[in-house]
Amino acid sequence: MIVVLRPHTSPKGIEEVIAEISRLGYEPAPVHGATQTIIAAIGDETTHQTLESLTALPQVERVLRVQKRYKLASRESHPEPTVVRVGDLEIGGGKFVLMAGPCSVESEEQLLETARRVRQVGASVLRGGAYKPRTSPYEFQGLGKEGLRLLELARAETGLKIITEVLSERDVEHVSASADILQIGARNAQNFQLLIECARSGRPVLLKRGMSERIEEWLLAAEYILAHGNPNVMLCERGIRTFETYTRNTLDLAAVAIAKRESHLPVIVDPSQGCGRADLVAELCKGAVALGADGLLIEVHPNPAEAVSDGQQQVDFESFGRLVEGIKPFVAASGRSL
Ligand code: PEP
Ligand code: MN
Repeated sequence: MIVVLRPHTSPKGIEEVIAEISRLGYEPAPVHGATQTIIAAIGDETTHQTLESLTALPQVERVLRVQKRYKLASRESHPEPTVVRVGDLEIGGGKFVLMAGPCSVESEEQLLETARRVRQVGASVLRGGAYKPRTSPYEFQGLGKEGLRLLELARAETGLKIITEVLSERDVEHVSASADILQIGARNAQNFQLLIECARSGRPVLLKRGMSERIEEWLLAAEYILAHGNPNVMLCERGIRTFETYTRNTLDLAAVAIAKRESHLPVIVDPSQGCGRADLVAELCKGAVALGADGLLIEVHPNPAEAVSDGQQQVDFESFGRLVEGIKPFVAASGRSL
């Protein structure tokens, strides 16, 4: 860290800061300028106490961090991209991965019909919420355990892997027993106890970005899972809340490129929550591929007008088929295959 002192700090004031830096376990290296002194504090910031509290001293103007706050999630610690293995499926490697299915699991017919259709056009993972985080307590909350049973049924018939959201620590054990991938939703993006429980489950985790979460915070949330012994983490950009009203959220495609640069973890894009409009999903998918995403998580419903949640953003089977055809040249141009 770099500790910047106020101009004209007395030699006694400088000594005081140097002593404090040593006491906190760093090696102080002062650089004296004509009016101002800066002190480089040499030591590992991720294992030592932070020096930011030094700004409490009147002679300290600023404390600057040199190292990133995340370590295991960073490219520096792991230059090669991580490939998450879900059975025989690889995510983050040469194959571009399609995860698709309804927002909510509603019925056997709805889920199985969707599973067959998305598989037919190239999806390898079936999504579907059994536990739904709804803004209002009066809205459909999901089928719960029955929803998990239906997801298992769809997997048995189609061979698709299953991704579903885990809403609370209480559910981790039984959701992990059914799901191949645990989805942590935007509303739980910084629920650290839930992240730790999911890490312990040993299941691969898809971590959505929170609605107002900075990229650094998103990577630190991933760091929680990695630091608790689970290396199989995927980041998922799903739009952030901005002032815009023409879209439900603002899909932050720059964050996809940044996450790919900063981290070795696979990045998945969810354009459905990302814009909240079925008519934009296909275009956003192309953008996501172009920016380096490793896969897409798309809401597909047999009849979006009748969906019990997020009907406005779910695409029907025909649109999904067209969407997949439309991204193929982009996937090929990015050097991967579907
Ligand atoms: C969803 O995938 O249906 C969902 C609720 O996602 P998010 O947590 O991104 O809002
Ligand atoms: Mn949804």
